[in-house]
Amino acid sequence: MTIATTGSSRTDSEDSLGIEDLRRKYRRERDRRAPSGSTRSYTSVAGEFGYYAKDPYTARTERETRTDAVEALVIGAGFGGLLTAARLKEAGVDSVRVMDEGGDVGGTWYWNRYPGIRCDIESYVYMPLLEEVGYLPRWRYAPGEEIRQHAIAIAEHYRLYGDALFHTRATGLAWDETLEKWLVSTDRGDRFHATFVVTSSGTLTQPKLPGIPGIETFRGHTFHSSRWDYSYTGGSADGGLTGLADKRVAVVGTGATGLQLIPHVGRDAEHLFVFQRTPSTVDIRDNRPTDQEWAASLQPGWQRERMENFLEVLAGEPVEESLVQDGWTATVNLQRQILSGAVDDTISPEEREVRDELDDARTMNRIRSRVDEVVTDPATAAALKPWYRYMCKRPGFSDEYLQTFNRPNATLVDTADHGGITRMTETSVFVGDEEFEVDCVIFATGFEVGISGVLSGTLPVTGRGGQTLLEAWGQGIQTLHGFATHGFPNLFHLSALQNANSVNFAHILQEQAEHIAAVIGEGRRRGARYLEPTLEAQQAWVQEVAATASDTRAFQAECTPGYYNGEGTRSIGGASYSPGPVVFHRLLREWRATRMREILVEPSASRQPKAVSAGVSA
Ligand code: NAP
Repeated sequence: MTIATTGSSRTDSEDSLGIEDLRRKYRRERDRRAPSGSTRSYTSVAGEFGYYAKDPYTARTERETRTDAVEALVIGAGFGGLLTAARLKEAGVDSVRVMDEGGDVGGTWYWNRYPGIRCDIESYVYMPLLEEVGYLPRWRYAPGEEIRQHAIAIAEHYRLYGDALFHTRATGLAWDETLEKWLVSTDRGDRFHATFVVTSSGTLTQPKLPGIPGIETFRGHTFHSSRWDYSYTGGSADGGLTGLADKRVAVVGTGATGLQLIPHVGRDAEHLFVFQRTPSTVDIRDNRPTDQEWAASLQPGWQRERMENFLEVLAGEPVEESLVQDGWTATVNLQRQILSGAVDDTISPEEREVRDELDDARTMNRIRSRVDEVVTDPATAAALKPWYRYMCKRPGFSDEYLQTFNRPNATLVDTADHGGITRMTETSVFVGDEEFEVDCVIFATGFEVGISGVLSGTLPVTGRGGQTLLEAWGQGIQTLHGFATHGFPNLFHLSALQNANSVNFAHILQEQAEHIAAVIGEGRRRGARYLEPTLEAQQAWVQEVAATASDTRAFQAECTPGYYNGEGTRSIGGASYSPGPVVFHRLLREWRATRMREILVEPSASRQPKAVSAGVSA
């Protein structure tokens, strides 16, 4: 048995749909999923749901509180934090303390250990510092554990463990006007000083649960995909979930995470129910072991060259040869609908939209046809087809996911007509009046966007004159290049806001880490009193970001709801620098060569806020 779809069947003759038909069809599918009551609401994994966020991997150990001083504190030990700490060490900053809420380094790769987890960007361009650490991934798309081990290798290589604080959350940063350092408070009672603070707290960190009525009454086993409970399922990230052999298991969510873990649960559970609200696009993965002949041919500098090339291709920049040819490089024009980068201005915007919409329709038709080719049951295949434009959701890739629905023990439950799961009871999941009795519910329902760190206010920051960062950003985010804010000396952030963005965000983080380390290194070399952008430079940058922002609202308004468009309520575009990462990184290099005076405050400068624009010349 392979189907139990509760949604309406699709009858359109799909291949013959023209653009107008597609638009109508997409709108109908969007409206089926439009926000309605509680079904599109989410529950934070706090309070009574706090156990969903607990660390299942590392026991929390007691330690002495810190009341000392370090030169640099890096908050977040994912790739962004590790890269920054590594580059700071290279720049001569020996005293670097790394802090993370997790029990070890790795960030995303620390928390997410579900079966089947892999990177979905080619590992040779995604995993940073490969040449520095002397490692080559074994697979084109590396398993999560290999990536996590690489994060550990980076921390060891750059000697970051010695002063690292794990299972520690920063609870406050306050600028000490006398010492001209940050006073850092944590949830472990630490109160120490740091000359420089860098925040790299990630954007998709806090797991979220759907606001399903009755979710708290369920008495079976349940956990979130980012806190996988191997003590219940058995096995490892490679599979072998023997604990599920006699279990009826519900998986809620079919995003990038669901796509990777569902094949494993299908293989090992007595019965798998996949509760789907919106199908993902599932394109070809084509994973393979690293070609040893290719590996032997690599010359020093190869990784940076490959990363640059991939970024250029994704950003729409011309290249002689595309080195990474995959599902991402094949859809560059379509990604431009929401991601920053160069647009083809050899044709008019109207012609471009027609070209891209046709291209979009071809790509989506191909992806929908693949469902028919793989999935044998026609009703299940119909329910698995995504009806929206390509970048409405994070594109997905898998050569195992669709195949799972050919298994006799797998049931797809299409919840779209009900806006998701209707309710839960002690024993069951309900969709409408239909009951599914299960032993276990696994939520692959994603993460709250931008909930951690300074932007959400979960880390209160008080700068010069007692002003908080949230107050300073009351009228909108104010930064120079996304990194630093006037009034908050020696404080830097890694994020896509007013900075660059790309699907290979690890590359963006690498550039950000290098920039911050270069600025701090230069400040130290010149004996700067502190590093703080002038108000003028900051205002100019905020205006530049706004003036060049591309408008993605029209595109996103037509999309099915999801986290890309604030569950159908807003657009996420315009927050990053729209001309794209290649242009932005060039701009940063030029700025470092000629305009460092916009951030270096020399020792003799007045302590008064208005006078800080005086600085050394570059
Ligand atoms: P996600 O993309 O937010 O997906 C959450 C899923 O849960 C969606 O399918 C959503 O349906 C569904 N859902 C939510 N509430 C529901 C309800 N009440 N009933 C039924 N379904 C419900 O989360 P994710 O898959 O964890 O991925 C998050 C991000 O992490 C990705 O976009 C990607 O950036 C990253 N990621 C990367 C990788 C990788 O690189 N290998 C792997 C995993 C994740 P709707 O679509 O209808 O909202």
